[in-house]
Amino acid sequence: MKILVIGRGVAALGFLDKLVRSDLFAQDHIELTWVSAGEGYPSCSLNSTALVALQGIKQGLSPLGDLLNKSYFTARDFLEAERPNGVYKVERYHKSPVEKLNHRFGHLFNVQEHNLFKWPINDCVKESAYIIHPSDFLSWWQELITKSFNSNSKYVNDLITELGPQVATGVKGKYPFDLCIDASGSLGLKLGLKKSGTEALGHYLVFNNVFFDDKEINKSFVLTTGGQNFIYQHEYRSVVFGGTDEKDEVHCPKSSALNLALKETLEDFAFLKFRGEKKVVSGSRHRAPRRMPQVIKEGRVIHIMGLYKNGYTVGHEFGEQVLCDVQAYYDATFATR
Ligand SMILES: Cc1cc2nc3c(=O)[nH]c(=O)nc-3n(C[C@H](O)[C@H](O)[C@H](O)COP(=O)(O)OP(=O)(O)OC[C@H]3O[C@@H](n4cnc5c(N)ncnc54)[C@H](O)[C@@H]3O)c2cc1C
Repeated sequence: MKILVIGRGVAALGFLDKLVRSDLFAQDHIELTWVSAGEGYPSCSLNSTALVALQGIKQGLSPLGDLLNKSYFTARDFLEAERPNGVYKVERYHKSPVEKLNHRFGHLFNVQEHNLFKWPINDCVKESAYIIHPSDFLSWWQELITKSFNSNSKYVNDLITELGPQVATGVKGKYPFDLCIDASGSLGLKLGLKKSGTEALGHYLVFNNVFFDDKEINKSFVLTTGGQNFIYQHEYRSVVFGGTDEKDEVHCPKSSALNLALKETLEDFAFLKFRGEKKVVSGSRHRAPRRMPQVIKEGRVIHIMGLYKNGYTVGHEFGEQVLCDVQAYYDATFATR
């Protein structure tokens, strides 16, 4: 059975990771071709604040909440078991009006004694989170996956320009398949590989070579306030700030809104004032109808759709789901041959 995977972001890697660990992959007649466009076609996964946290999301309130809750635990189990490069477990502090925090988390924590900032009692919520350095983590994951490749598996750097019912056409060649996993994100939408959803740009600021003005902070952390994340990655001496939605379609957006939000954050938390080399980063996300990430089957193509704001958790969950679909197809079509 010929399996074709398109893409190299967290959606593709989430599936490939599960595939190479599966009994199915060990079958002689499984042929895997993994195709992705090169550096000129950056993935959203590389341009992402890449934060993984439960953030008070509970089961039983909505289908999206159920998916995000389940996905968090699938991602957490993977990160804890594998301890990948570029991933750090940190404390995340939410500082918002008390009613808002109560509504989301159901309770407030007494963290006065134990938090980095010594906030007043009952004034914030603390949770565990994983902060991820996208390129280090993705390189580690790609290497892990390709180490399991056998003589029936290959990676090809190519841009798919047309996806037919049983063959994908790229700039460099044609790729026939029995089953294709389309994990092409928002670029795939632009190129017509998938038909539904919209592109949603997201922007954030990155500061490198960071030095805090007041005192040395020697621990990574996340502060979520005013709808923005302030992520300090001590191992990289970098601050990542933002993750907002903008309507503009240009690749270098106005960063004024983020600058203003950062200024307000630093007015409220003066001890976080810092110096660093700034750049603005933009990522292009795929947003599926109703903002609901989904796996859609169209003939022999399985589209992984709309990971939108949550690819670093949902990518893991959908990887398992798509592997089940591939296994079912194999059992129905090839197993008895
Ligand atoms: C500013 C911002 C902040 C974010 N913050 C978070 C966060 O804190 N936590 C979180 O979980 N998520 C976050 N996200 C969302 C997350 O980054 C995305 O959901 C995720 O990266 C999407 O992964 P993907 O694999 O679906 O798509 P992508 O990462 O875009 O991967 C698609 C891949 O397919 C390739 N490709 C596309 N078309 C073709 C083609 N025709 N031929 C060959 N190859 C092709 C591309 O080159 C790319 O490698 C954020 C996103 C942004 C923009």
